[in-house]
Amino acid sequence: MQAGNSRDPNSDVSARLALLRSVESGVLDSIPCPQCHSNSVSVWFTHPSLNEYRTWFVCSRCAFQMRVQNSERPAYFSADRVDARLEEYDSEILRKCRLADSPPQNK
Ligand SMILES: [Zn+2]
Repeated sequence: MQAGNSRDPNSDVSARLALLRSVESGVLDSIPCPQCHSNSVSVWFTHPSLNEYRTWFVCSRCAFQMRVQNSERPAYFSADRVDARLEEYDSEILRKCRLADSPPQNK
C-alpha cells in the first residue's frame, strides 16, 4: 500500500469529465474549477490547422488549465472564443509533431 499520495487520479478523471460535460451542454463560462472550487473556469478554443481543434479550460482565479484535443469541430466552437496565445501554442506543438514524424532527410 502506498501512503502519501495526495493526488487521486480517479478524482482527476471525474473532474475532467465534469468539465467536458459542461462544454458539451453549452456552458462556456463560470464552470466550477476542480482545483480552487470557484466558478471561474472559462472555455477557449483553438483551431491550429485545417482539421485540428482544441478545447481549453482555463481558470481565472488559480493556475488550473486543461487542454483537450478534438477530432472534429467542437459543437460550440466560435471564432470569438479562439484565444490567439493558446492557438499559437497549439500550432507550435503541431509543427514539432510533424517534424518528429517525418524521417530525417539526407542531403
Ligand atoms: Zn481555479
